[in-house]
Amino acid sequence: MTSSYKCVIFDLDHTLWDYDTNCAEALQELYLKHELKEKGVESFQNFLEVFVDMNTQMWDQFDLGLIQRDVIRYQRFHRILTAVGVDDYKLSLEMSSDYVRLSPTKKNLLPNAKQILDYLKGKYQMIIITNGFEEIQSVKLSSSGISDYFENVITSETVGHKKPAREIFDYALKGRAHENHEVLMIGDNLNTDIKGANNAGIHSAYFNPLRKPHNHTTTYEIADLIELKSIL
Ligand SMILES: [Mg+2]
Repeated sequence: MTSSYKCVIFDLDHTLWDYDTNCAEALQELYLKHELKEKGVESFQNFLEVFVDMNTQMWDQFDLGLIQRDVIRYQRFHRILTAVGVDDYKLSLEMSSDYVRLSPTKKNLLPNAKQILDYLKGKYQMIIITNGFEEIQSVKLSSSGISDYFENVITSETVGHKKPAREIFDYALKGRAHENHEVLMIGDNLNTDIKGANNAGIHSAYFNPLRKPHNHTTTYEIADLIELKSIL
């Protein structure tokens, strides 16, 4: 389809990079390496569920500016381990640094991510805007083989503003001669990606694979990345 868009902005985690699968693979390795079963954490599945629950809460707080990066770095695994019955701060720090090193090297992408990037390449200016950390996000992009699709990768850490702040979008679009209606933001998070697009006055495509109900205003909504072919 031909469209009036000239520039496409992607979110990274949970939109292109398969955060859940990659995170589960990394945690499985850490569960074995640090012998959590022997320490009384009987079920990996339970450990994973506790991680997902607490990790999601902490990232939501980070996105809202309620906690800083160091809280995630130094408290996340302690809270998780304590919740599964292992109160060991030293172990939690080792697991944290292992996780931060290992997880970004995982390669899984969301279904049809590569296909849609191939389809879009050369037709649109492509940018990533992510609330993640600079050195971690760049490892994810290169290990999953998608760095070369993007003209620019903008992290909140570099800009000093997080999505949904308008400033991070202004920074990404600075010097590009685009009208607002020529830019489309694609992301899985209503509070950062979609609210951010609305703040910046650009169009949005909400990636909602589970078709969760919501009451936000989005230009488009898709459940599979391949549906972008009918928009772009
Ligand atoms: Mg995301």
